Amino acid sequence: MYKEDTIAAVATPPGEGGVAIIRLSGPRAEEIAGKVFARAGGKDGALRSRCLTYGTIRDPKSGEIMDEVLVALMRKPLSYTGEDVVEINCHGGPLVTRRLLQLILAQGARHADPGEFTRRAFLNGRIDLAQAEAILDLTQARTETGMKLALQQMHGGLSKWIAELREELLEILAQVEAAIDFPEEDIELLHRGDLVAKIESLREKITGIIQSYEWGRLFREGAKVCIAGRPNVGKSSLLNALLGEERVIVTAIPGTTRDVIEESINLGGLPVVLWDTAGIHQAADPVEKIGVEFSLKRLEAADAILVVLDGASHHSSEDETILRVVRGKKGLIVINKSDLPQQLDPSWVAEAAADKAAVSVSALKMTGLNELEQILYDLLLTKSAEPSIVLTNARHKAALQRASDGLDASAQALQRGLSAEFVTVELFEVKDGLEEVIGAVDSEDILERIFSKFCIGK
Ligand code: GDP
Repeated sequence: MYKEDTIAAVATPPGEGGVAIIRLSGPRAEEIAGKVFARAGGKDGALRSRCLTYGTIRDPKSGEIMDEVLVALMRKPLSYTGEDVVEINCHGGPLVTRRLLQLILAQGARHADPGEFTRRAFLNGRIDLAQAEAILDLTQARTETGMKLALQQMHGGLSKWIAELREELLEILAQVEAAIDFPEEDIELLHRGDLVAKIESLREKITGIIQSYEWGRLFREGAKVCIAGRPNVGKSSLLNALLGEERVIVTAIPGTTRDVIEESINLGGLPVVLWDTAGIHQAADPVEKIGVEFSLKRLEAADAILVVLDGASHHSSEDETILRVVRGKKGLIVINKSDLPQQLDPSWVAEAAADKAAVSVSALKMTGLNELEQILYDLLLTKSAEPSIVLTNARHKAALQRASDGLDASAQALQRGLSAEFVTVELFEVKDGLEEVIGAVDSEDILERIFSKFCIGK
């Protein structure tokens, strides 16, 4: 599971840059770095931990100077991985970093697997699993709110909360176990109602956090918003207007957007992926037909739909079809072309829109867009108040769901007068669920899945 060898990788992104970092971790990190690093001015002696030292990297065989660098040694246990870590700050260029890394590997280090540094940090108890996953979220965050949520989790927000719940649970468990250990004392009768109340309160807290998952998911993955409407109502123009730049081809010939176009915007801190779909109508052209089928699929997968209508013309049967298809889905009616004389009958819109709000915009003149964005934001985040802790990870959600189910089952067992032994079995399920979030994960599979999502060098 944990190979006690020394790993190395380039920790900075590929490409040209002012500086790149090559990271080594493991028992031989200092020794391997010492083979290739020469301190400036011919100084020798061991590197000082947590200090930057200036010098050069040389090939010990040929004596060739390969780069001028700053080297940082962080001796265990106070390092990122909990092992001896050396970070070589070299010049950032694909060739320089590749050559230096090869040199280091030739001295006996192994190339790190994706996420292996963070995995070692976890295995050495430097961070728990929720924190390790937060590091990944942080590197992938697309908006400031996403970043804030990841930082909160990285600093142990979620872990602390889980630890508190775990304490509450252990107290309940102790009471139930006391009933097993001292059956002669009538603890059971005395405490059943009391225990059920405590279990219920714990379950409510967990359920509240499980519900925050949807909120967190939107910030992490971005909300998927589909722009739908018959050809020529101005879907591509609306997408461009929301993007604030001309990216999608806009033409006056109906049916030009044949594929689904995907662009991202930042909606008040919420990442939103906009899909401009091919017009939904009866297409004769086979290529267009594929596009049409594709857009129906996208409608299904979207978190919200913007149904675009042309305000400057009367409604058509295609508009009716689209509104029927999206009935019951979260969405907003966008009446476009408000700069032209309006032909669309407002009473028809009110009736056809059913549960959806309508907003008038002109994609061409860029008017009404702020209002549209505000309504869309509120629509996507139905619970607009930010929960105190936000779950952003499906694995955490599943583990907490298991804990919540276990609490349910144990409360029922208590109410049905089942024996204390039976109740403890359920409560241990709860304990496992809570611990799974922060890392009491035995399965190599789960660890593999989590850490393989990282890039190499993390
Ligand atoms: P799509 O087929 O729904 O993607 O529609 P497009 O965005 O390609 O637009 C179709 C036509 O309507 C183009 O000629 C646009 O210039 C025009 N159009 C789009 N939005 C507006 C608007 O707000 N006002 C006016 N006057 N014309 C618009």
